[in-house]
Formats: sequence, C-alpha cells, structure tokens
Amino acid sequence: MRILLTNDDGIDSPGLRRLHGALAGSHEVWVVAPESNRSGSSHSITLGTPTRFRQVAEREFACGGTPADCVLVACLGLLPVRPDFVIAGVNLGPNLGTDIVYSGTAAAARQGAFMGLPALACSLDSYGPPFHLDFPVEFVTRNLEAFGALLSESHFLNINFPNREAPAGTAVTHPARRIYKDELVRFTPPQGDLYCFIGGGRPESVHEEGSDYWAIERGCVSLSPIVIHPANHEVEERYRQATYWMGGLP
Ligand code: MN
Repeated sequence: MRILLTNDDGIDSPGLRRLHGALAGSHEVWVVAPESNRSGSSHSITLGTPTRFRQVAEREFACGGTPADCVLVACLGLLPVRPDFVIAGVNLGPNLGTDIVYSGTAAAARQGAFMGLPALACSLDSYGPPFHLDFPVEFVTRNLEAFGALLSESHFLNINFPNREAPAGTAVTHPARRIYKDELVRFTPPQGDLYCFIGGGRPESVHEEGSDYWAIERGCVSLSPIVIHPANHEVEERYRQATYWMGGLP
C-alpha cells in the first residue's frame, strides 16, 4: 500500500518516526509533515502565499505550512502518484471529543477523506513522557487492512490510545463534549504591546457512556468514526418550519 504519513507535531516527532519505522517495512510510505509543531492549527490552509516543501530524505518532505497543506499538496501532485491511505500521527496528546475541531492531526485525516482517501487520525493520551508508542504503532500497522475495508469518503477514523503498554480493549465510540479550562495570561513588556497567552488547566469531558473519553478513562483504545459532511436534517427542518423570516421561504 502507498501511505501518506503526516502529523501536526512536526516531522521529527517520535510519534511519526516510530509509525514510519513500522509501516516502511511492508508499505511504500511517503512523509509530508510540518517542519515544526503545528498542533492546534485546525484545518487551516495556506492561500495567497507559496508554501515551502523541503525534501529531507527519500520520500520525505518537510512542509512550511499546516497539516492540511501537507495532505492537500501531497495529493495534488507533490507525490508522483496518489496515495492509497492517509495516516496522521501518532499525536503526542489526546484528540478527544471536540478537540478534533482544533486538532491539526484530525484535520489532516479529514483532508484525506475530502480527497476520497481512507484516513486515520491517531493520538496518544499523554501530554508528557513516558510515551507508550509500541502498542499504537503495532495496532495501526496490524489493522490497516481492516480499517481500509471499513473507511469510506463519508468519514475518517479518529483513534485515541491510552498511554499504557497494554490497553484493556477496544471500543467504538462517539466524540465527547469537552469542557475547556482556558484562561488568559497577560504579559506587559516594559515598552510596547500587550502579549496574551492561552493558559489554564487541561480540558475535562462531559461523562457519557460510549464516548471516546469514556473509553480512554477505562484504559481502552477508542475508535470514533467522524462524519465529515456537516449536514443535520433535524436542525434544517426546525428552520424550515419557522415561518417568521423576512421575505418568507420558498
Ligand atoms: Mn499535536
């Protein structure tokens, strides 16, 4: 299989390097990943200015842009042939629930799905070392064909791994609702402008059985299929039923 491997932590991240090492034994792996950490860049793409792609090894490019740029440009022709599969990760840090709105890892997988490719976003539930990467790497490598059979253009698969040597099992889940603890930290230099930093505690989650957070809390691998087309017929109908629009509805 021809695999496009990317991430949002940067091309030198051990999460990506370890996965590359495992996949390259039996697949044709192309790495197109940001040259520095672009975590939290969401689905941003670079428009109006050129983006640098620096070849750093055979089949490896460090990109000056975002994770979504990496997948977009790789599939539009940076790679001599179109990949069969897109894998983002392994991200060092969880991407649970609504984290996927901010996540560059999830965006890279979403961009793969937009381009009609089976795509995985893989994340490890730890913000600091030690990172237990052996299991995630083996899990992705060994289940690649099974994922390929299940994935379609309608969704990508968001995988979160508990940070332990041997997870308690695997659960198919839905994204949790995250509760962010963001706080503004301000710096005022002696001369000049105000500097702000988004600080605060780690996010929490609404406890709900069957969510990705619920699975990770129980030490299980979480598999969340994320539908990419943001249609919601129930909410549409609510608007359709409303009769008070200026100008009316057709
Ligand atoms: Mn990241």
